Amino acid sequence: QQIQLTQVAENVYEIPEDEGMEVPVRVYGSAALVEEMQTADDRTLSQGRNVATLPGIRKFAVVLPDGHQGYGFPIGGVAAVDTETGVISPGGIGFDINCGVRLLRTPLTADDVAGHEEELAERLYETVPCGLGKGGYLETNMDDLRGILDGGMEWMREAGHATEADLEHCEENGRLDGDPGKVPAEALSRGHNQVGSLGSGNHFLEVQRVADVYDAETAAAFGLAEDRIVVMIHSGSRGLGHQTCTEYVRRFERAFPDIADSLPDKQLIYAPLDEQVAEDYKQAMYAAANFAWANRQAMTQAVREVFADLLGVNTVELVYDVCHNIAKEERHRIDGGEDTLLVHRKGATRAFPAGRPEIPDAYRDVGQPVFIPGSMGTASYVLCGGERSLDLTFGSTAHGAGRLKSRMQAKKEYSAGELRRTLRERGIYVRARSGGTLAEEAPGAYKDVDEVIRVSDALNIGTKVARTVPICNIKG
Ligand code: 5GP
Ligand code: MN
Ligand code: MN
Repeated sequence: QQIQLTQVAENVYEIPEDEGMEVPVRVYGSAALVEEMQTADDRTLSQGRNVATLPGIRKFAVVLPDGHQGYGFPIGGVAAVDTETGVISPGGIGFDINCGVRLLRTPLTADDVAGHEEELAERLYETVPCGLGKGGYLETNMDDLRGILDGGMEWMREAGHATEADLEHCEENGRLDGDPGKVPAEALSRGHNQVGSLGSGNHFLEVQRVADVYDAETAAAFGLAEDRIVVMIHSGSRGLGHQTCTEYVRRFERAFPDIADSLPDKQLIYAPLDEQVAEDYKQAMYAAANFAWANRQAMTQAVREVFADLLGVNTVELVYDVCHNIAKEERHRIDGGEDTLLVHRKGATRAFPAGRPEIPDAYRDVGQPVFIPGSMGTASYVLCGGERSLDLTFGSTAHGAGRLKSRMQAKKEYSAGELRRTLRERGIYVRARSGGTLAEEAPGAYKDVDEVIRVSDALNIGTKVARTVPICNIKG
């Protein structure tokens, strides 16, 4: 049924609290973005409404400007629950546990890579394993895998694959306290040879040029300046995370048939936080999150190898690494009091303002770096956690442009050859494993990233720092 939205302020809409809902739903977007969520068959808003029925959810369910329908919960959504009366839901985290984005800065400018674009794309494609197939940049055995699941970036540093600075520039320093023993056996067997692999489709490794700087001071704090070459990596926990999520969805369904029956949508399945299986999932999810950080780090090492060999550059540094599919315990102020909440962010990026203790020293006075990819043919953005994010979104903003057309629809509408040609004419070299991937990921399959960013900036939840444009892109 059509969901009624009330406009509360500019770029702020609400689904008022109603029968069965614990809280209202806040929808952030421009008129155009919100209209896209209201087209027939689109389930973004009804999913947002379903999220608002979760036991223990606090304040409001959040749909961000890039919101679109996902498994149970919208992608581009936040649900913060009370740690005593609340629940944990795999659909609020996503199958690709700790999917995220990191940005690497180089000392190079666009002129330095001019003429090398094709070679660079080719070398990156050869060096970073892509697609669904096996093999990662790093060779790991089962003992290594257990170390990675337990230690994340710490294991990577001890094994010589990460520097202290790499570790400091990840959320949580690249390690959450999980239990590898809670990760299902089948997930382990899928993971051990995938450390340092991109994955398929939407995941990418992109060499970009900083095209515009909007906030020079913050950009400088992030080590960025106009015309500089940067590398953006978007990937997650591969088969290991996916299998972990799948298993726990099944376990929850089996453990709580009454809950499953009572849900407005079966995909909303959850476990009350005081149940052992909820704790088990959390421990497994954190271990999978550690795997995702190690995975992005291994690809960082691959990028360093290629830039050193091809361009003689030995200073490819990590600006920051953000998670956009995760649930973490955080302190938040609600109604004058301060509480610990379990904040589910699915397709949502933490965007903490200056001063939060979670932000690394180097950035604490300006705010947390946020990276929002657009598509292989449009801009991507660097933002900074905004002053109002804590009040409006539990310290969060969007995670991408957000999908507009389904993969199937995109495959019908776009031709890979045509795309490759037009991108090439604009100086963008794309290397993908298959034509199908290219069509599915066509820029037109995504919403208008400029509009998403405009809303984030206007709301002051994540403010504009810089805009980047693609030069080389490799896709799974
Ligand atoms: P997701 O995590 O939901 O799969 O994707 C995050 C976002 O990445 C998408 O919403 C889309 O805006 C963006 N994206 C997908 N493919 C590419 C790409 O090849 N390059 C860039 N820069 N962004 C992309
Ligand atoms: Mn992912
Ligand atoms: Mn992602």
